[in-house]
Amino acid sequence: MSNIIDYLRISVIDKCNFRCQYCMPEGAKLNYLLGGELLTNKEIATLVKDVFIPVGFTKFRLTGGEPLLRPGIVDIVRDIARQPQTKDLAMTTNAFLLANLAGELYDAGLNRINISLDSLNPETFDKIIGNRGRSRWQQTWQGILAAHRVGFDPLKLNVVVIPGVNDREVLDLAALTLDRHWHVRFIEFMPIGNPELFGDRAWIDSEELRQTIRQRWGLEASQVNGNGPADVFQIPGAKGTIGFISQMSECFCDRCNRIRLSADGWLRPCLLNEQGQIDLKTMLRKGMSAIELQQQVKQLLAIKPEVNFKQRDSGTDAGVYTRTMSQIGG
Ligand code: SAM
Ligand code: SF4
Repeated sequence: MSNIIDYLRISVIDKCNFRCQYCMPEGAKLNYLLGGELLTNKEIATLVKDVFIPVGFTKFRLTGGEPLLRPGIVDIVRDIARQPQTKDLAMTTNAFLLANLAGELYDAGLNRINISLDSLNPETFDKIIGNRGRSRWQQTWQGILAAHRVGFDPLKLNVVVIPGVNDREVLDLAALTLDRHWHVRFIEFMPIGNPELFGDRAWIDSEELRQTIRQRWGLEASQVNGNGPADVFQIPGAKGTIGFISQMSECFCDRCNRIRLSADGWLRPCLLNEQGQIDLKTMLRKGMSAIELQQQVKQLLAIKPEVNFKQRDSGTDAGVYTRTMSQIGG
């Protein structure tokens, strides 16, 4: 089966103000991009307007690293939002800097926001994000509340479930959906960039989490099933929903509708597979025309089904795990 690929995830920066254990663990060797290696704000706008939109892309997500660290992030949002073909413009953020930016981002045309929040317990939160100083939980929570206040609705919270670290909080996090129109999504940890981190049991299968929630409140399939990778459920009578992103226990490559542009301008057909990626930034800087760039993107789309993540099992993925999520643009 082949999907319509109309969704581009754009990483705007590879740096981050957190050091999540599963993404940028302290001590990991991360060679940050230098200023000139990043796509400029203008290049991002040009690629969206003259290359991706003409090829049929209508949905965009800004991510990183931490996108709120990118200078001019509000302008980047505004440039993409004002294209009439843009149907959906979203962002994934850790929310630490969101309290002051939520209003501006909303006014600039950002439609949706996904926030990573792995724990409601400040101590556990700080441990996961690798923070040793004053707790960062409260400021993050204020960022989430600000996003809710300015009108981002529904608000999505992403939780990477780590065995022995935050798995005991699954019910508390699921309870956030009872009286709020929030979507809490549990993500299976992916052993990329740092596969040795969690030893034998890296992730907990989504089905195990569903059982835990089912036993407490019951759980039913939700009517609000998005076209993304999450399987969406609802506690009976709850205002919000609970999603499960199960890329480790269930392969969903067949419904994948996205490709990714890294902060240094590499376009990848698959999150975990570098095969077939193209260096759009260099092509653009060498003066390739918009038509030629569109052709390059079309060729990449044509090979996408062959290089999807599932190919890891058939040995075609040499070098797959060399970049962390922050470097690819998760
Ligand atoms: N800094 C932003 C944030 O954390 O929301 C955006 C970038 S982050 C790389 C995007 C998403 O990737 C986050 O929801 C994060 O939890 C997820 N992520 C990072 N590393 C992961 C891993 N190894 N397995 C599963 N999810 C991961
Ligand atoms: Fe930063 Fe997001 Fe990675 Fe955490 S998951 S280290 S917040 S990029």
